[in-house]
Amino acid sequence: MGDSPDTFDDEAGEGEAAPTAAELEAAGQSAMFGGDPEPAPAPPAPPPPVAAAPAQPYRVLARKYRPQTFSQLIGQDAMVQTLANGIKRERLAHAFLMTGVRGVGKTSTARLIAKALNCVGPDGQGGPTIDPCGVCEPCVAIAEGRHIDVIEMDAASHTGVDDVREIIEAVRYAAVSARYKIYIIDEVHMLSRNAFNALLKTLEEPPAHVKFLFATTEADKLPVTVLSRCQRFDLRRIDAPLLASHFAWICQEEQVGAEDEALAMIAAAAEGSVRDGLSILDQAIAHADLAGDGKVTAVQVQEMLGLADKSVQRRLYGALLAGDGAGLLDLVAQQFALGVEPLALLRGCMELTHRTAVAQLGQGAGDAVSAEEREAIEGWAKGLSAGQLHRLWQLLLKGFDEVRTAPDPLVAAQMALLRVMHASDMPDPGTLAKKLEELAARPAPAASADPASPASASAAPPWEALVSSVENSGQLRVGQIMRDWVRVVAIGQAELTYSLAPGYAGDPSPELRDALLKATGERWQVELSQLEGAPSLRELLEARQAAEAAAQRRNPLVEATLAAFPAAEFVKEDEVVPLERGNRNWSRN
Ligand SMILES: [Zn+2]
Repeated sequence: MGDSPDTFDDEAGEGEAAPTAAELEAAGQSAMFGGDPEPAPAPPAPPPPVAAAPAQPYRVLARKYRPQTFSQLIGQDAMVQTLANGIKRERLAHAFLMTGVRGVGKTSTARLIAKALNCVGPDGQGGPTIDPCGVCEPCVAIAEGRHIDVIEMDAASHTGVDDVREIIEAVRYAAVSARYKIYIIDEVHMLSRNAFNALLKTLEEPPAHVKFLFATTEADKLPVTVLSRCQRFDLRRIDAPLLASHFAWICQEEQVGAEDEALAMIAAAAEGSVRDGLSILDQAIAHADLAGDGKVTAVQVQEMLGLADKSVQRRLYGALLAGDGAGLLDLVAQQFALGVEPLALLRGCMELTHRTAVAQLGQGAGDAVSAEEREAIEGWAKGLSAGQLHRLWQLLLKGFDEVRTAPDPLVAAQMALLRVMHASDMPDPGTLAKKLEELAARPAPAASADPASPASASAAPPWEALVSSVENSGQLRVGQIMRDWVRVVAIGQAELTYSLAPGYAGDPSPELRDALLKATGERWQVELSQLEGAPSLRELLEARQAAEAAAQRRNPLVEATLAAFPAAEFVKEDEVVPLERGNRNWSRN
């Protein structure tokens, strides 16, 4: 393992939500070590300033702020606690295995353990400690990577049995100047089978003065025989708010101004890795310097990362929920033109869905970074039912997979989002019941007018007659299109401006023109518009039926049934509402 800036660790991995088996195991071990509850020795943030030599040339942040004490190691409290107990009780394993995704601090942890074990304190009299002094000779030498008894090796470049044999030979000799001879082997899963076998003999009966510290991103590639001889620490992915506050502290140290939202974006992009986050922050600071005032802004970071603008992302999600297909496609196109990956748009919608679901459980809007975002999320949490959110999530997830593998991600993203928009707006039974109640509470609807849509009162009658005349002229298919999909925006003497109910693919204008000519003998000017039209005749019919159903709901028998089966739905025998065409009103709440 060299001294390159990226030796924090490496490799991408999966998210972690629940404690892993190894964390639970670690907790158990902590109990085994004595386990009485002790205060955690290392508050996670903000860590105390790192003593940095001012005269040194610029160092990348990940290296400059490599944690020098356990209290500077953020996000790994459980592990530090276990280690502290082990040191205190003098119950330390001969071999430790640090696992976790890239950049969470595996190698840093290994070096800290090396310090903890070999620190002699400022007066040279100290023993192993979870709080190494940082000033004694062993501490300084280890921090600088030049301690003769702390041997670092990168298994990725020393995979052979000869490399391991060298170690084994050396293991027999006592430490030269330190308490323990410590072998740090990074990416240990890269060792060859023979190398593992050679190592195993030493691991089975290690001399008392030797400790092995292994780090790996892929613990499942290690032989069980090795795993079983290690005390294992699974380092956790660091959550975004903690990362953001860590970055805020570093910016302060570096005397760089930074917007909170910018740091939150970097933290999100880092996906749990301190090192990845710091290298993005490095770039952001460089960008900010070029831009002039040296302040890291959200706009810059967004540009730099090719991130979707959060406010645009919210508008896009809003369009999705409101069934505004044209607006949706517009926003997708705009974002794509700005360099935002189509997949990122799906991901953004998924994130908003998740946050909304969390907010719905009374958890607030989570780590929303702006007041606008919080407000939007809380609004959706009120307006959407849990069932709708689940359906949205499923649909988005499916779309995400499609976009990821599609030859043309932009087209795939457009299609996927439109499908989500069309399919997600079916109210779930709970919402439907509520909606029906609301409808029922209104004055009884006139025979053909729609109680939910005042606009229809003027648009419907002449229009319905026109549709009938088209049907009567034998053009049943076009008549059906007119009934089901055409939303009248404006209708006049041989002039029709209309929009389409969601779910209709294509432009039926030519067919409509032909049909109207045949039915009326007049040449109609027919125009498809993006404006919101009055509900189609089919939509009106559905609304009226919903109102009737609501009236039925007032029936004592039905009331009793619903009380007993709250999730029951009204289903008319002769009507199955297609998925695309549920009542959309919920999304405008
Ligand atoms: Zn020390």
